[in-house]
Amino acid sequence: MTSTLPITSAPLASDYTQDTAAGIALSELAHDLYRRGWMAGTSGNLSVRLAREDTVLITASGLGKGRLSPSDTVLVSATTGEPLVAGSARPSAETSIHIALYQAFPDCGAVVHAHTPYATALASRAARAGERWVRFTDFELIKGMGRPFVDTITIPVFPNWPEVPRIAAEVKDHYAASEGDTAPVLLIAHHGATAWGANLAEATDRLEYLEALSHLALLVEDARTSNH
Ligand SMILES: [Zn+2]
Repeated sequence: MTSTLPITSAPLASDYTQDTAAGIALSELAHDLYRRGWMAGTSGNLSVRLAREDTVLITASGLGKGRLSPSDTVLVSATTGEPLVAGSARPSAETSIHIALYQAFPDCGAVVHAHTPYATALASRAARAGERWVRFTDFELIKGMGRPFVDTITIPVFPNWPEVPRIAAEVKDHYAASEGDTAPVLLIAHHGATAWGANLAEATDRLEYLEALSHLALLVEDARTSNH
């Protein structure tokens, strides 16, 4: 029996396969980060850039990360963050921050945002001292952030504005004004940490390095900030 499907079904089928694989990867990572205590309740959000042009798959808003299913994800525009499929779930409330990063870094393939306790504590301490960044020096783990950051890495701390688009706008402005190599991670005071990379694995590794560095810095009271 010959297929009645139009020839255009081929790319659609591959899109479906890709979206399903990405949905599985996002949900499995959400479960993993939830079990570590980094995505309590519904907090945190994850996204991955898909191969076809201008598309990102991001976790849906308001769902428990410990029980997220592969279909609890939303296809959005990598330019606007708007859902691309009519009737889809609401994308993460922090989608605009993800989009700011995809726009700032064309090679960014995935963004991981979680409420990791040590990094959040360090960012909050910096903010309370009126400082806008945290710097780590000498720790071996700095090398995990990439070659330019062998000895020292400086990480911006953004205020946790109640309006998420305002945070996203500051993220966008910060990287538009940055020169040279920037750390592939950022902090939001009293809120959490965000890491990005070529893919979900690299972004997750970087989040782990940031959390481990923050833990170490707090243990040795060596968190260098802009007033030191
Ligand atoms: Zn958050």
